Amino acid sequence: MQRIEHIYINGEFVLPHGQEWFDLHNPSTEEVIGQVRLGDALDAQRAIAAAKAAFPAWALTTREERIAALQRMHRALAAREQELHEAILAEYGAPAVRGRWMATYPADVIAQAIDALQAFEFEEQVGIATVVLTPVGVTGLITPWNSNAGFICSKLATALATGCTSVIKPSEMSALQTQVVLRALHEAGLPPGVFNIVNGRGDVVGEEIARHPDVAKISFTGSSAVGQHLLRTSADTMKRVTLELGGKSPTVVLDDADFPAIMPLVLQAGFLNSGQACIAGTRILVPRTRLAEFEKVAQAHVAQIQSGDPRKADTDIGPMVSQKQWERVQRYIQLGQQEGARLLAGGEGRPEGLHAGWFVKPTIFTDANNQMRISREEIFGPVLTIIPYEDDAAAISIANDTDYGLSALVLGTNTERCGRIARQINCGRVLINTLAHEPRAPFGGFKHSGLGREMGKWGMNAYLEPKTLI
Ligand code: NAD
Repeated sequence: MQRIEHIYINGEFVLPHGQEWFDLHNPSTEEVIGQVRLGDALDAQRAIAAAKAAFPAWALTTREERIAALQRMHRALAAREQELHEAILAEYGAPAVRGRWMATYPADVIAQAIDALQAFEFEEQVGIATVVLTPVGVTGLITPWNSNAGFICSKLATALATGCTSVIKPSEMSALQTQVVLRALHEAGLPPGVFNIVNGRGDVVGEEIARHPDVAKISFTGSSAVGQHLLRTSADTMKRVTLELGGKSPTVVLDDADFPAIMPLVLQAGFLNSGQACIAGTRILVPRTRLAEFEKVAQAHVAQIQSGDPRKADTDIGPMVSQKQWERVQRYIQLGQQEGARLLAGGEGRPEGLHAGWFVKPTIFTDANNQMRISREEIFGPVLTIIPYEDDAAAISIANDTDYGLSALVLGTNTERCGRIARQINCGRVLINTLAHEPRAPFGGFKHSGLGREMGKWGMNAYLEPKTLI
């Protein structure tokens, strides 16, 4: 049982003013495995003051000095990969392959920020003007539970690369991961105050960061509802805002696709991170003329998918992060049936043989339409919906008939046709016959999936203000 009592302000581990303790659970067993003491608004104010005091000197550092600092962060995070992996397994239940990726990604993303910084042009000549990109100031970085360590590192590395300082409000449900990352960041020996971490509730510490006049920018990853609230709150102090929010991403299966060949991609995209991924391909659009054939292949493949103990090497889907999330997913499985969709696989309750843990059966609905709530709302669990379509135009129209616009996957044998369709889908990223990631390309969403972009030069620009000198 771990007790995490300290927060991190001005280069020191300090006791928070906040008194509340929050339980941390192992979602595979439902047991309480730790407790974290939460900071409050006063703690957020102290952290913001430290970041404000550190800003002028950090903003003046050279590219080389920042690269050296980021390299120290990279080394420190890489050295704690195994410890981070344990924390991710314990408090999050990510299955083996995903858990390993989540443990290596924080160091990798810092290396990607170093690459972006090395190539970045902070000055440009435009006619008689020199345009200088200057850091916005103190940044508030707020992360979700489903990729807490990764987002702390990606947001912080980008903020520091641009000369900004930061106050981080990590997910209160991911305090074990935060603690490992924090110890590594402390070892990296950055100047006091350039980054500060305050564990706390969103509506207390997050709210104070969003409200505070000394915070110039918010970078938030989380749900669309909280993102919209932050945008409204930030307006009062004219904060710059980057929002990475939810999704209901389409997987468009074209009528020339080889179903047995593409099915692993369809299911990996849908069940990514046990279905708890913003980019999960949860709406599967299938040509009506080949629906029965697709269902048969899907059923055969999903029968091979293991939902259960994330420590077992052959587990594909781990538990939902909390009882609340498990109950929410169960409600959607009931709702899909009430709405008239047909269960092709899975259903309510735990997978056979499991009597504890927040496990869900890999579930696929078919015969659905795009107006059903299971097709429109982010479920955040391993629940996929097959929606039949008539022709390419209808597939594009259904793909775009959503409030979201984060990601999409197009699958077919004619790459040129796939590319034509990809260009007509309104979202931040379209993958064609692959689940590959390109860290130098921008990441972010259209519509309710977000505002602004992260990664590469686009991510850096979001922390900078152009200043024209003539
Ligand atoms: P959430 O919105 O409940 O919480 C995210 C963070 O915001 C947490 O740290 C929380 O404490 C904080 N928060 C809550 N209320 C707040 C408030 N009033 N003011 C300030 N901060 C507040 O989201 P979650 O459940 O942690 O994460 C899952 C969601 O995140 C899903 O919707 C998922 O799609 C989204 N997500 C998006 C991306 C992306 O890159 N687009 C990546 C991962 C997750």
